[in-house]
Amino acid sequence: MELSDQQLERYARHIILHDVGGSGQRCLLASRVLLIGAGGIGSPAALYLAAAGVGHLGILDDDRVSLSNLQRQILYGTSDIGRSKGQAAAERLGAINPDVAVDVHEIRLDAGNAVSLLAGYDLILDGSDNFTTRLAVNEAAVALEIPLVSAAIGPFEGQLSVFKGYLPDRPCYQCLVPAPPADEAQKSCAETGVLGAVAGVMGSWAALEAMRELMNVGESLAGRMILFNARDAITRTVGLGKDPACAICSDPGMAHQSRPASISRG
Ligand SMILES: [Zn+2]
Repeated sequence: MELSDQQLERYARHIILHDVGGSGQRCLLASRVLLIGAGGIGSPAALYLAAAGVGHLGILDDDRVSLSNLQRQILYGTSDIGRSKGQAAAERLGAINPDVAVDVHEIRLDAGNAVSLLAGYDLILDGSDNFTTRLAVNEAAVALEIPLVSAAIGPFEGQLSVFKGYLPDRPCYQCLVPAPPADEAQKSCAETGVLGAVAGVMGSWAALEAMRELMNVGESLAGRMILFNARDAITRTVGLGKDPACAICSDPGMAHQSRPASISRG
């Protein structure tokens, strides 16, 4: 695929990068990324992926835009209130970059439909707000051997990792969260609040990780997790090991390893 004059100009600041170049940009244009959720994390992630020229974006969200979303879900404007998030997102992303084809999945993902929804994508970016969805996405991503970028936020904190549980030495999301926490009574943003820019940081960072994975730039975040304390401006990176007892990705023949510390926030 040759880049057109328009594309050479649009992506000039990518192409000039040694780690990207024309081949990296062509790779982005040929890539298919599915975003799980078009909310606080999915909004900035989708905007950056579309602007970057990721050629095929899937948006999975069955929700509608409400007034209280607008404080952080920057894909939408006041005139979008009441509209389908998927339709509004597709319109906005198409306006940013005509190189991007957007598929809208207005459906709730569950363990029964996850594999069919994820199949055919090169990378999954999970910005969903509950453990049940994240675990179903993870199981399907491991089965299909698709890298999973997973971001989550709390009121003043964020976490981000890339999961490749299909590799013998990398954990999956379920290695970290073996089951939905008992108190999962889903402390969503609606109940706990969140500073909008925290979602912006984590969603943008998730888009960055997606692009690094797609173009194979630098060292993968798989096997590590970024923890962001937004209140005190502290960022840490911790190692994540594979859980030899993981029901999704464990290999019975593997040597015993200690379980990773469980860090999970909604
Ligand atoms: Zn696992």
